[in-house]
Amino acid sequence: MQAGQKLGIVYIGKAGGKHKYSLLDEKDIHLVKRFRFEAKVDVNKDGNGANIFAYAFDLSREETSGCYFHEYIWERHCGGVAPGFRVSHKNGVTVDNRLNNLCVTPSSPSKNSKVQFSHMESAINNNCGSEPRDDQRLYWMAVSRLPPFDAEHEHFMNLNYKCYNANGEQVMEEDDTLSFYECHYPPCCKIETELREFSICGQCQQVRYCGPLCQERDWPSHKKYCKEKAKQRISYDVFPER
Ligand SMILES: [Zn+2]
Ligand SMILES: [Zn+2]
Repeated sequence: MQAGQKLGIVYIGKAGGKHKYSLLDEKDIHLVKRFRFEAKVDVNKDGNGANIFAYAFDLSREETSGCYFHEYIWERHCGGVAPGFRVSHKNGVTVDNRLNNLCVTPSSPSKNSKVQFSHMESAINNNCGSEPRDDQRLYWMAVSRLPPFDAEHEHFMNLNYKCYNANGEQVMEEDDTLSFYECHYPPCCKIETELREFSICGQCQQVRYCGPLCQERDWPSHKKYCKEKAKQRISYDVFPER
């Protein structure tokens, strides 16, 4: 990152059990006025987890004209993508839509490129120490600096997401049997590769973490919400009729 470079960060909704943001270059910040954003969860066809993307609706057009925001950014600056190719995220953070982080890869990779490609996409998942790699640091920095959401916000923010299964059919995220959780620590984009892979916070039973390090780091901002939820759970247990 060069000194003086500005970045945009836009709220795209809740997905994978947490609030999601997308990172943009300074030259693309003005686009946030033109689009409405959603967090879109795509379950991988190979049965290996899911990805969360920024999905954008052009406000000047019909509501139905949504697009993947990373594809839009690529086309805007670099032109169309040849058939058989797709736009991917170099650092594996699928909401980091800075042009530098985007590249074109074969959409059904041959054996050789598959190794390289899956290495790239799963890089973040192999990052078991929860430390960001160098190329993910910018995203971590940006997201870590955001103020935590308060519980009042939570309520209406919940509406702003969509989840799709491997066949591209929309499912409700509340349908817990189908939703993959992303690590609740905001900058960590590690997402479950199997349902219920991550362990749940023992106190509130609401959020999931990829490991103890992320849980520890998230505690200062999760603390308040967690204690309230834990209290509610206890009162439900004591007065089950409420
Ligand atoms: Zn994590
Ligand atoms: Zn908790």
